[in-house]
Amino acid sequence: MQKEICNKLECTGCGACAAVCPKKCIEMKESSEGFAYPEVDAAACINCDLCTKTCHINQTLETSKADFYMGWHKEQAVQLKSSSGGVFTALAQYVFSRGGVVAGAELNSGTGEVVHTIITDCAELQRVRSSKYYQSSTKEIFAQVRRYLDDGRYVLFSGVACQIAALKAYLKHKPYEKLITVDVLCHGVASKKTVDAYIQSREKAFGKKIIRYSFRVKGGNTAWENGGSTRTQLFFEDGSDIIEDQSTGTFFKGFNNNLFLRESCYKCHYCGTDRIADFTIADFWGVSRSKVTKEQLKNGVSLILANTGRARAMLPELRQYMEFEEIGAGEAIPYNKALVQPNTRPADRDRYFAEIGRKSYDSLIHRYYRKYYIKLKLKRLLSGILGEKNFAKLKSGGKDS
Ligand SMILES: Cc1cc2nc3c(=O)[nH]c(=O)nc-3n(C[C@H](O)[C@H](O)[C@H](O)COP(=O)(O)OP(=O)(O)OC[C@H]3O[C@@H](n4cnc5c(N)ncnc54)[C@H](O)[C@@H]3O)c2cc1C
Repeated sequence: MQKEICNKLECTGCGACAAVCPKKCIEMKESSEGFAYPEVDAAACINCDLCTKTCHINQTLETSKADFYMGWHKEQAVQLKSSSGGVFTALAQYVFSRGGVVAGAELNSGTGEVVHTIITDCAELQRVRSSKYYQSSTKEIFAQVRRYLDDGRYVLFSGVACQIAALKAYLKHKPYEKLITVDVLCHGVASKKTVDAYIQSREKAFGKKIIRYSFRVKGGNTAWENGGSTRTQLFFEDGSDIIEDQSTGTFFKGFNNNLFLRESCYKCHYCGTDRIADFTIADFWGVSRSKVTKEQLKNGVSLILANTGRARAMLPELRQYMEFEEIGAGEAIPYNKALVQPNTRPADRDRYFAEIGRKSYDSLIHRYYRKYYIKLKLKRLLSGILGEKNFAKLKSGGKDS
């Protein structure tokens, strides 16, 4: 029988158990749903139980109450290359200026795998910028981070909250002075199997190979405002690319409806305003339109939670890299469910994972959200017949817009 390191329904796939195993007999393997889970080689296991003792799910971690800010990086070019306002880059610059290193999630376009990696200067930042909405593999990262810290170097570790918890547990909660942690607020990770199936279905639809993709797009007509930058951009082998809208593209339809999240995300231990990282960064969807310029709404506004004394102490110096101001928690919380509670597990989730290997991804999404797609088709048809202006007038009950 497989050794259970923690309750499988709560296992976040962080990989700390595999990293800490003295016999290296725990391997992270992809489940039938496309999420990584530990598998223990019973013949090699010496029952030292370091894995169960290190697992963050089996522990109660210290949390801190957040102070809320909104802000953005001072350089527009950085804002445009980042998912939200580019605050991650400002934190990285702070650490690089002290001779430190940064750990973040990088997408390998060749394998499609997202892997946590170390970067050592600003020129490498683009490798880890931008949100990849499926789980990153931590592989060697915890051991690497510990080596840098033991050598007296600064380390900025970025990841989702369960990965910050995993790092802290791996480091046995030793209070390293030069470790700065930042979690990207997360409502759940998608399955790798789903992303593969989505890519395959788009390749089939367009009849050409996709060589890379991105989940966040800014620039041109694509503004951050109202979730506009959460779109998938697919780059084809022949040099062309397309952007799939959040409302019409099938990836975000499933992701935003929490259809294919990891089982543990529906029971996430790290939602809410008591946080475990020094900083938490997110999209500030609730930003008041009167508080920022139109240009800023186009480029992105970050929500920044300074959670610990260390984070608060860094704020004055961070002013050289970013603009920020304090806001009320109530301005942000209603727009980010992860600051309240985990998402609800949809009734269709089991059916989806039972069907995904056998049916095309697009066809499943169109079936589960049939009513939505019928409405969308009707809207497009009417807009085509009446013209966009008349259609907008009809929608607004006859009023001119
Ligand atoms: C899976 C996931 C779910 C998210 N859900 C929400 C949400 O519900 N609400 C919200 O407001 N924001 C959410 N975010 C965060 C948001 O998309 C931005 O990443 C965040 O605001 C940082 O923006 P930035 O402009 O400062 O950083 P950028 O420069 O774009 O940096 C991206 C940062 O995200 C990290 N990162 C990227 N992909 C992953 C990954 N797969 N696993 C771990 N770390 C990763 C990188 O290491 C880097 O630190 C989510 C991000 C992820 C990865």
